Amino acid sequence: MGIQIYNTLTRQKEAFKPIEEGKVRMYVCGPTVYNYIHIGNARPAIVFDTVRKYFQYQNYDVHYVLNFTDVDDKLIKAANELGSEVPEIAERFIEAYKEDVGAFGVEEAVDHPRVTENMSEIIEFINTLVEKGHAYESGGDVYFRTRSFDSYGKLSQQSIDELRTGARIEVGEKKEDPLDFTLWKTTKDGEIAWESPWGEGRPGWHIECSAMAKKYLGDTIDIHAGGQDLTFPHHENEIAQSEALNEKQFANYWMHNGYIKIENEKMSKSLGNFVLVHDIIKHHDPQVIRFFMLSVHYRHPINFSEALLEGAKNSLDRIKNAYENLEHRKQSTTNQTEDDEQWIQKVEAYKNTFIEEMDDDFNTANAISVLFDLTKDANVYLQSPHTSEHVISSFQQTLSELAEVLGIRVAGEDELLDEEIDALIQERIDARKNRNFQRADEIRDDLKERGIILEDTPQGTRWKRG
Ligand SMILES: [Zn+2]
Repeated sequence: MGIQIYNTLTRQKEAFKPIEEGKVRMYVCGPTVYNYIHIGNARPAIVFDTVRKYFQYQNYDVHYVLNFTDVDDKLIKAANELGSEVPEIAERFIEAYKEDVGAFGVEEAVDHPRVTENMSEIIEFINTLVEKGHAYESGGDVYFRTRSFDSYGKLSQQSIDELRTGARIEVGEKKEDPLDFTLWKTTKDGEIAWESPWGEGRPGWHIECSAMAKKYLGDTIDIHAGGQDLTFPHHENEIAQSEALNEKQFANYWMHNGYIKIENEKMSKSLGNFVLVHDIIKHHDPQVIRFFMLSVHYRHPINFSEALLEGAKNSLDRIKNAYENLEHRKQSTTNQTEDDEQWIQKVEAYKNTFIEEMDDDFNTANAISVLFDLTKDANVYLQSPHTSEHVISSFQQTLSELAEVLGIRVAGEDELLDEEIDALIQERIDARKNRNFQRADEIRDDLKERGIILEDTPQGTRWKRG
Protein backbone atom coordinates (compact mmCIF):
# COMPACT_ATOMS: atom_id res chain seq x y z
CA MET A 1 0.00 0.00 0.00
CA GLY A 2 2.29 2.77 1.21
CA ILE A 3 1.54 6.43 1.81
CA GLN A 4 -1.10 8.16 -0.31
CA ILE A 5 -1.13 11.95 -0.49
CA TYR A 6 -3.87 14.21 -1.75
CA ASN A 7 -2.05 16.40 -4.24
CA THR A 8 -3.58 19.86 -4.74
CA LEU A 9 -1.89 19.99 -8.14
CA THR A 10 -3.85 17.02 -9.51
CA ARG A 11 -6.82 17.17 -7.12
CA GLN A 12 -6.47 13.48 -6.30
CA LYS A 13 -4.76 11.06 -3.97
CA GLU A 14 -1.52 9.69 -5.30
CA ALA A 15 0.92 7.06 -4.06
CA PHE A 16 3.96 8.78 -2.59
CA LYS A 17 7.11 8.10 -4.60
CA PRO A 18 10.17 9.89 -3.26
CA ILE A 19 12.76 11.41 -5.59
CA GLU A 20 15.42 9.56 -3.64
CA GLU A 21 14.67 6.21 -1.99
CA GLY A 22 14.04 6.58 1.75
CA LYS A 23 14.25 10.38 1.71
CA VAL A 24 11.66 13.14 1.80
CA ARG A 25 12.51 16.69 0.73
CA MET A 26 9.84 18.82 2.29
CA TYR A 27 9.38 22.59 2.24
CA VAL A 28 6.79 24.34 4.41
CA CYS A 29 6.05 28.06 4.12
CA GLY A 30 6.83 29.61 7.48
CA PRO A 31 5.65 32.72 9.29
CA THR A 32 6.36 36.39 8.73
CA VAL A 33 7.94 37.15 12.06
CA TYR A 34 6.47 40.51 13.09
CA ASN A 35 4.24 39.30 15.93
CA TYR A 36 3.33 36.26 18.02
CA ILE A 37 1.65 33.57 15.95
CA HIS A 38 -2.09 33.06 16.17
CA ILE A 39 -3.88 29.75 16.41
CA GLY A 40 -4.36 29.71 12.62
CA ASN A 41 -0.56 29.57 12.18
CA ALA A 42 -0.40 26.74 14.73
CA ARG A 43 -2.45 24.46 12.51
CA PRO A 44 0.08 24.03 9.66
CA ALA A 45 2.89 23.83 12.24
CA ILE A 46 1.18 20.90 13.99
CA VAL A 47 -0.25 19.23 10.90
CA PHE A 48 2.96 19.17 8.86
CA ASP A 49 5.02 18.22 11.90
CA THR A 50 2.73 15.20 12.17
CA VAL A 51 3.25 14.41 8.49
CA ARG A 52 6.98 14.58 9.15
CA LYS A 53 6.71 12.38 12.26
CA TYR A 54 4.74 9.79 10.32
CA PHE A 55 7.32 9.69 7.54
CA GLN A 56 10.01 9.26 10.19
CA TYR A 57 7.97 6.50 11.81
CA GLN A 58 8.01 4.81 8.40
CA ASN A 59 11.83 5.14 8.41
CA TYR A 60 12.10 8.01 5.97
CA ASP A 61 14.83 10.55 6.45
CA VAL A 62 12.96 13.87 6.22
CA HIS A 63 14.80 17.00 5.16
CA TYR A 64 12.30 19.50 6.57
CA VAL A 65 12.76 23.15 5.65
CA LEU A 66 10.66 25.97 7.08
CA ASN A 67 11.51 29.56 6.20
CA PHE A 68 11.21 32.72 8.23
CA THR A 69 10.18 35.86 6.37
CA ASP A 70 12.32 38.27 8.34
CA VAL A 71 11.96 41.39 6.21
CA ASP A 72 8.78 42.82 4.65
CA ASP A 73 6.28 45.68 5.03
CA LYS A 74 4.75 44.26 8.22
CA LEU A 75 8.14 43.97 9.93
CA ILE A 76 9.08 47.51 8.92
CA LYS A 77 5.77 48.78 10.28
CA ALA A 78 6.18 46.83 13.53
CA ALA A 79 9.74 48.14 13.95
CA ASN A 80 8.54 51.72 13.48
CA GLU A 81 5.67 51.27 15.91
CA LEU A 82 7.81 49.67 18.59
CA GLY A 83 10.72 52.06 18.06
CA SER A 84 12.94 49.12 17.15
CA GLU A 85 14.88 47.80 14.17
CA VAL A 86 13.75 45.11 11.73
CA PRO A 87 16.47 42.56 12.72
CA GLU A 88 15.55 42.89 16.41
CA ILE A 89 11.86 42.40 15.72
CA ALA A 90 12.67 39.36 13.57
CA GLU A 91 14.96 37.81 16.18
CA ARG A 92 12.42 38.31 18.92
CA PHE A 93 9.53 36.71 17.07
CA ILE A 94 11.58 33.87 15.60
CA GLU A 95 12.45 32.87 19.17
CA ALA A 96 8.81 33.30 20.19
CA TYR A 97 7.73 31.11 17.28
CA LYS A 98 10.15 28.35 18.23
CA GLU A 99 9.00 28.50 21.83
CA ASP A 100 5.31 28.45 20.93
CA VAL A 101 5.41 25.57 18.47
CA GLY A 102 7.96 23.76 20.66
CA ALA A 103 5.30 23.67 23.37
CA PHE A 104 3.11 21.71 20.94
CA GLY A 105 5.89 19.16 20.53
CA VAL A 106 6.76 20.44 17.04
CA GLU A 107 10.27 19.38 16.08
CA GLU A 108 12.65 22.09 14.82
CA ALA A 109 13.19 22.11 11.07
CA VAL A 110 16.46 20.76 9.71
CA ASP A 111 16.90 24.18 8.11
CA HIS A 112 15.21 27.43 9.10
CA PRO A 113 16.41 29.76 6.33
CA ARG A 114 15.77 33.49 6.56
CA VAL A 115 15.39 35.99 3.74
CA THR A 116 18.12 38.28 5.06
CA GLU A 117 20.61 35.40 5.16
CA ASN A 118 19.89 34.32 1.58
CA MET A 119 19.91 37.65 -0.19
CA SER A 120 22.63 36.77 -2.73
CA GLU A 121 20.77 33.59 -3.76
CA ILE A 122 17.55 35.60 -4.13
CA ILE A 123 19.22 38.30 -6.25
CA GLU A 124 20.94 35.64 -8.37
CA PHE A 125 17.58 33.91 -8.90
CA ILE A 126 15.90 37.13 -10.04
CA ASN A 127 18.84 38.02 -12.24
CA THR A 128 18.63 34.71 -14.11
CA LEU A 129 14.89 35.17 -14.60
CA VAL A 130 15.60 38.58 -16.16
CA GLU A 131 18.27 37.05 -18.42
CA LYS A 132 15.84 34.37 -19.53
CA GLY A 133 13.18 36.94 -20.39
CA HIS A 134 10.82 35.80 -17.61
CA ALA A 135 11.28 39.03 -15.67
CA TYR A 136 11.98 42.68 -16.37
CA GLU A 137 13.17 45.75 -14.55
CA SER A 138 10.98 48.83 -14.48
CA GLY A 139 12.00 51.94 -12.56
CA GLY A 140 14.04 50.05 -9.94
CA ASP A 141 11.40 47.35 -9.48
CA VAL A 142 11.58 43.90 -11.04
CA TYR A 143 8.42 42.04 -12.09
CA PHE A 144 7.78 38.47 -13.18
CA ARG A 145 6.38 38.35 -16.71
CA THR A 146 3.47 36.05 -15.94
CA ARG A 147 2.42 35.47 -19.56
CA SER A 148 5.87 34.09 -20.31
CA PHE A 149 5.03 31.05 -18.18
CA ASP A 150 2.52 28.95 -20.10
CA SER A 151 1.10 26.85 -17.31
CA TYR A 152 0.45 29.75 -14.91
CA GLY A 153 -2.69 28.95 -12.92
CA LYS A 154 -2.25 25.16 -12.89
CA LEU A 155 -2.17 24.82 -9.09
CA SER A 156 -5.23 26.95 -8.39
CA GLN A 157 -6.81 25.67 -11.63
CA GLN A 158 -7.55 29.06 -13.12
CA SER A 159 -6.76 30.10 -16.66
CA ILE A 160 -4.65 33.15 -17.38
CA ASP A 161 -7.63 34.77 -19.08
CA GLU A 162 -9.88 34.17 -16.08
CA LEU A 163 -7.26 35.69 -13.85
CA ARG A 164 -6.85 38.62 -16.19
CA THR A 165 -10.44 39.69 -15.53
CA GLY A 166 -10.37 41.45 -12.22
CA ALA A 167 -6.63 42.02 -12.16
CA ARG A 168 -5.56 45.61 -12.53
CA ILE A 169 -2.47 47.71 -12.23
CA GLU A 170 -2.41 49.62 -8.94
CA VAL A 171 -1.35 53.24 -8.72
CA GLY A 172 2.43 53.47 -8.62
CA GLU A 173 3.03 50.05 -10.18
CA LYS A 174 5.09 50.01 -13.35
CA LYS A 175 3.99 46.66 -14.80
CA GLU A 176 3.61 45.57 -18.40
CA ASP A 177 0.60 43.47 -17.48
CA PRO A 178 -1.75 43.42 -14.47
CA LEU A 179 -0.90 39.75 -13.80
CA ASP A 180 2.81 40.43 -13.39
CA PHE A 181 4.01 40.25 -9.80
CA THR A 182 6.88 41.81 -7.86
CA LEU A 183 10.22 40.05 -7.49
CA TRP A 184 12.22 43.04 -6.28
CA LYS A 185 11.14 46.45 -5.15
CA THR A 186 12.98 49.67 -4.77
CA THR A 187 12.85 51.00 -1.21
CA LYS A 188 11.94 54.34 0.22
CA ASP A 189 14.64 56.44 1.82
CA GLY A 190 15.76 55.16 5.18
CA GLU A 191 14.12 51.75 4.84
CA ILE A 192 16.16 48.59 5.26
CA ALA A 193 17.67 47.79 1.83
CA TRP A 194 20.20 45.67 -0.06
CA GLU A 195 22.37 46.46 -3.07
CA SER A 196 21.25 44.82 -6.29
CA PRO A 197 21.79 45.14 -10.06
CA TRP A 198 18.55 47.22 -10.04
CA GLY A 199 19.61 49.58 -7.29
CA GLU A 200 18.89 49.45 -3.56
CA GLY A 201 15.81 47.52 -2.60
CA ARG A 202 14.43 44.32 -1.14
CA PRO A 203 12.77 41.20 -2.47
CA GLY A 204 9.05 40.65 -2.94
CA TRP A 205 7.51 37.91 -0.83
CA HIS A 206 7.11 34.99 -3.27
CA ILE A 207 10.69 34.83 -4.51
CA GLU A 208 12.23 33.81 -1.17
CA CYS A 209 10.56 30.39 -1.13
CA SER A 210 11.66 29.56 -4.68
CA ALA A 211 15.24 30.61 -3.92
CA MET A 212 15.45 28.84 -0.56
CA ALA A 213 13.79 25.61 -1.73
CA LYS A 214 16.35 25.47 -4.55
CA LYS A 215 19.28 26.17 -2.25
CA TYR A 216 18.37 23.75 0.53
CA LEU A 217 16.47 21.01 -1.30
CA GLY A 218 17.28 21.21 -5.01
CA ASP A 219 15.39 22.05 -8.21
CA THR A 220 12.65 19.50 -7.60
CA ILE A 221 11.32 18.73 -4.15
CA ASP A 222 9.02 15.98 -2.94
CA ILE A 223 6.47 17.90 -0.89
CA HIS A 224 5.62 21.57 -0.70
CA ALA A 225 3.15 22.42 2.03
CA GLY A 226 1.32 25.34 3.57
CA GLY A 227 -2.07 26.76 4.46
CA GLN A 228 -4.86 26.66 1.89
CA ASP A 229 -4.83 30.47 1.71
CA LEU A 230 -1.33 30.29 0.22
CA THR A 231 -2.43 28.32 -2.86
CA PHE A 232 -3.07 31.51 -4.79
CA PRO A 233 -1.18 33.65 -5.48
CA HIS A 234 1.81 32.62 -3.32
CA HIS A 235 2.27 29.01 -4.39
CA GLU A 236 1.16 29.67 -7.94
CA ASN A 237 3.86 32.32 -8.17
CA GLU A 238 6.46 30.06 -6.58
CA ILE A 239 5.76 27.45 -9.28
CA ALA A 240 6.06 30.07 -12.05
CA GLN A 241 9.38 31.41 -10.71
CA SER A 242 10.97 28.00 -10.04
CA GLU A 243 9.80 26.20 -13.16
CA ALA A 244 10.64 29.15 -15.42
CA LEU A 245 14.15 29.16 -13.98
CA ASN A 246 14.91 25.45 -13.54
CA GLU A 247 12.80 24.12 -16.42
CA LYS A 248 11.88 21.20 -14.14
CA GLN A 249 8.84 20.35 -12.06
CA PHE A 250 9.11 22.32 -8.79
CA ALA A 251 7.25 20.08 -6.32
CA ASN A 252 5.83 16.62 -6.90
CA TYR A 253 3.16 16.88 -4.18
CA TRP A 254 1.39 20.00 -2.94
CA MET A 255 -0.30 19.73 0.46
CA HIS A 256 -2.61 22.37 1.92
CA ASN A 257 -4.33 22.47 5.29
CA GLY A 258 -7.86 23.83 5.68
CA TYR A 259 -9.06 27.01 7.34
CA ILE A 260 -9.59 27.57 11.02
CA LYS A 261 -12.60 29.30 12.55
CA ILE A 262 -12.91 30.67 16.05
CA GLU A 263 -16.21 29.86 17.77
CA ASN A 264 -17.72 29.42 14.29
CA GLU A 265 -16.59 32.80 13.08
CA LYS A 266 -13.90 33.70 10.64
CA MET A 267 -10.79 34.82 12.46
CA SER A 268 -10.16 38.45 11.60
CA LYS A 269 -8.60 41.56 12.99
CA SER A 270 -11.89 43.46 12.72
CA LEU A 271 -13.76 40.86 14.80
CA GLY A 272 -11.01 41.02 17.40
CA ASN A 273 -11.01 37.24 17.76
CA PHE A 274 -7.33 36.64 17.10
CA VAL A 275 -6.20 33.92 19.47
CA LEU A 276 -2.46 34.12 20.07
CA VAL A 277 -0.71 30.84 20.81
CA HIS A 278 1.43 32.64 23.37
CA ASP A 279 -1.70 33.43 25.42
CA ILE A 280 -3.72 30.29 24.95
CA ILE A 281 -0.98 27.91 26.08
CA LYS A 282 -1.02 29.67 29.44
CA HIS A 283 -4.56 28.43 30.02
CA HIS A 284 -4.67 25.20 28.04
CA ASP A 285 -2.35 22.21 27.92
CA PRO A 286 -0.57 22.49 24.54
CA GLN A 287 -0.91 18.72 24.19
CA VAL A 288 -4.69 19.07 24.31
CA ILE A 289 -4.55 21.74 21.59
CA ARG A 290 -2.38 19.48 19.44
CA PHE A 291 -4.75 16.54 20.00
CA PHE A 292 -7.69 18.77 19.11
CA MET A 293 -6.03 20.00 15.89
CA LEU A 294 -5.42 16.42 14.80
CA SER A 295 -8.95 15.27 15.61
CA VAL A 296 -10.08 16.80 12.28
CA HIS A 297 -8.59 15.80 8.94
CA TYR A 298 -6.02 18.41 7.94
CA ARG A 299 -7.77 19.32 4.69
CA HIS A 300 -11.10 20.03 6.37
CA PRO A 301 -11.99 23.29 8.08
CA ILE A 302 -11.69 23.22 11.85
CA ASN A 303 -13.67 25.16 14.41
CA PHE A 304 -11.65 26.21 17.42
CA SER A 305 -13.89 26.62 20.44
CA GLU A 306 -13.59 26.36 24.20
CA ALA A 307 -16.28 23.67 24.30
CA LEU A 308 -14.59 21.53 21.67
CA LEU A 309 -11.26 21.99 23.41
CA GLU A 310 -12.84 20.74 26.62
CA GLY A 311 -14.10 17.71 24.71
CA ALA A 312 -10.62 17.06 23.36
CA LYS A 313 -9.22 17.24 26.88
CA ASN A 314 -11.69 14.62 28.10
CA SER A 315 -10.93 12.37 25.15
CA LEU A 316 -7.20 12.60 25.68
CA ASP A 317 -7.68 11.94 29.40
CA ARG A 318 -9.57 8.74 28.59
CA ILE A 319 -6.56 7.42 26.69
CA LYS A 320 -4.12 8.55 29.37
CA ASN A 321 -6.25 7.00 32.13
CA ALA A 322 -6.30 3.68 30.34
CA TYR A 323 -2.53 3.83 30.10
CA GLU A 324 -2.29 4.68 33.81
CA ASN A 325 -4.65 1.82 34.76
CA LEU A 326 -2.57 -0.60 32.75
CA GLU A 327 0.47 0.63 34.64
CA HIS A 328 -1.21 -0.01 38.02
CA ARG A 329 -2.31 -3.46 36.98
CA LYS A 330 1.28 -4.47 36.24
CA GLN A 331 1.81 -5.10 39.96
CA SER A 332 -0.79 -7.84 40.07
CA THR A 333 -0.37 -9.76 36.85
CA THR A 334 0.33 -13.38 36.27
CA ASN A 335 3.02 -14.40 33.83
CA GLN A 336 0.84 -15.79 31.16
CA THR A 337 -2.81 -16.56 30.57
CA GLU A 338 -4.54 -18.74 28.01
CA ASP A 339 -5.89 -16.00 25.78
CA ASP A 340 -2.65 -13.99 25.61
CA GLU A 341 -2.06 -14.67 21.95
CA GLN A 342 -5.58 -13.61 21.01
CA TRP A 343 -5.18 -10.26 22.77
CA ILE A 344 -1.75 -9.63 21.33
CA GLN A 345 -3.11 -10.25 17.85
CA LYS A 346 -5.97 -7.87 18.53
CA VAL A 347 -3.57 -5.13 19.59
CA GLU A 348 -1.45 -5.80 16.53
CA ALA A 349 -4.54 -5.46 14.32
CA TYR A 350 -5.25 -2.00 15.79
CA LYS A 351 -1.73 -0.94 15.00
CA ASN A 352 -2.17 -2.06 11.41
CA THR A 353 -5.44 -0.15 11.12
CA PHE A 354 -3.80 2.95 12.55
CA ILE A 355 -1.08 2.68 9.88
CA GLU A 356 -3.68 2.19 7.14
CA GLU A 357 -5.46 5.37 8.26
CA MET A 358 -2.26 7.38 8.37
CA ASP A 359 -1.22 5.98 4.99
CA ASP A 360 -4.51 7.30 3.64
CA ASP A 361 -3.48 10.95 3.30
CA PHE A 362 -2.55 11.25 6.99
CA ASN A 363 -6.07 10.72 8.27
CA THR A 364 -5.33 11.63 11.88
CA ALA A 365 -9.05 11.87 12.69
CA ASN A 366 -9.53 8.17 11.94
CA ALA A 367 -6.17 7.29 13.48
CA ILE A 368 -7.38 8.86 16.73
CA SER A 369 -10.56 6.74 16.52
CA VAL A 370 -8.32 3.69 16.37
CA LEU A 371 -6.60 4.88 19.55
CA PHE A 372 -10.02 5.07 21.21
CA ASP A 373 -10.90 1.54 20.10
CA LEU A 374 -7.59 0.33 21.46
CA THR A 375 -8.31 2.16 24.72
CA LYS A 376 -11.75 0.59 24.97
CA ASP A 377 -10.31 -2.87 24.54
CA ALA A 378 -7.61 -2.14 27.10
CA ASN A 379 -10.38 -1.29 29.57
CA VAL A 380 -12.22 -4.50 28.70
CA TYR A 381 -9.03 -6.46 29.23
CA LEU A 382 -8.51 -4.84 32.61
CA GLN A 383 -11.90 -6.28 33.67
CA SER A 384 -10.65 -9.85 33.22
CA PRO A 385 -9.91 -11.70 36.46
CA HIS A 386 -6.45 -12.70 35.25
CA THR A 387 -4.19 -10.44 33.25
CA SER A 388 -0.73 -11.09 31.96
CA GLU A 389 2.19 -8.72 31.91
CA HIS A 390 2.81 -9.64 28.32
CA VAL A 391 -0.59 -8.35 27.17
CA ILE A 392 -0.48 -5.30 29.44
CA SER A 393 2.89 -4.30 28.00
CA SER A 394 1.66 -4.82 24.48
CA PHE A 395 -1.31 -2.48 25.12
CA GLN A 396 0.94 0.13 26.72
CA GLN A 397 3.69 -0.07 24.15
CA THR A 398 1.24 0.23 21.25
CA LEU A 399 -0.73 3.08 22.82
CA SER A 400 2.34 5.16 23.50
CA GLU A 401 4.04 4.31 20.20
CA LEU A 402 1.04 5.29 18.09
CA ALA A 403 0.22 8.39 20.14
CA GLU A 404 3.82 9.50 19.78
CA VAL A 405 3.49 9.36 15.99
CA LEU A 406 0.87 12.09 16.49
CA GLY A 407 3.18 13.95 18.87
CA ILE A 408 1.00 13.03 21.83
CA ARG A 409 2.34 11.54 25.04
CA VAL A 410 0.13 9.23 27.02
CA ALA A 411 2.69 7.94 29.50
CA GLY A 412 2.17 10.15 32.51
CA GLU A 413 2.25 13.91 32.89
CA ASP A 414 5.88 14.11 33.80
CA GLU A 415 7.39 12.53 30.77
CA LEU A 416 8.56 15.18 28.33
CA LEU A 417 9.00 14.71 24.59
CA ASP A 418 12.48 15.36 23.21
CA GLU A 419 11.22 18.44 21.33
CA GLU A 420 9.76 19.89 24.52
CA ILE A 421 13.06 19.43 26.31
CA ASP A 422 14.91 21.07 23.40
CA ALA A 423 12.46 23.99 23.47
CA LEU A 424 13.00 24.47 27.22
CA ILE A 425 16.77 24.31 26.80
CA GLN A 426 16.53 26.96 24.08
CA GLU A 427 14.40 29.11 26.38
CA ARG A 428 17.05 28.70 29.09
CA ILE A 429 19.83 29.77 26.68
CA ASP A 430 17.79 32.84 25.73
CA ALA A 431 17.07 33.64 29.36
CA ARG A 432 20.79 33.55 30.14
CA LYS A 433 21.56 35.70 27.11
CA ASN A 434 19.08 38.24 28.46
CA ARG A 435 20.71 37.90 31.89
CA ASN A 436 17.48 36.51 33.30
CA PHE A 437 19.31 34.00 35.48
CA GLN A 438 16.32 33.42 37.71
CA ARG A 439 14.30 32.03 34.80
CA ALA A 440 17.31 30.03 33.58
CA ASP A 441 17.70 28.35 36.98
CA GLU A 442 13.98 27.78 37.21
CA ILE A 443 14.04 25.84 33.93
CA ARG A 444 17.05 23.82 35.06
CA ASP A 445 15.41 22.92 38.38
CA ASP A 446 12.10 22.18 36.74
CA LEU A 447 13.73 19.80 34.27
CA LYS A 448 15.68 18.14 37.07
CA GLU A 449 12.47 17.54 38.96
CA ARG A 450 11.13 15.82 35.86
CA GLY A 451 14.17 13.60 35.58
CA ILE A 452 16.08 15.52 32.90
CA ILE A 453 19.69 16.28 33.74
CA LEU A 454 21.38 19.16 31.93
CA GLU A 455 25.08 19.34 31.32
CA ASP A 456 26.65 22.58 30.04
CA THR A 457 29.64 21.86 27.84
CA PRO A 458 31.78 24.14 25.63
CA GLN A 459 29.86 22.66 22.67
CA GLY A 460 26.49 23.59 24.16
CA THR A 461 23.98 22.12 26.55
CA ARG A 462 23.50 18.35 26.55
CA TRP A 463 20.73 16.51 28.36
CA LYS A 464 19.97 13.04 29.52
CA ARG A 465 17.09 11.32 31.21
CA GLY A 466 18.15 10.64 34.80
ZN1 LIG B 1 6.28 30.13 0.50
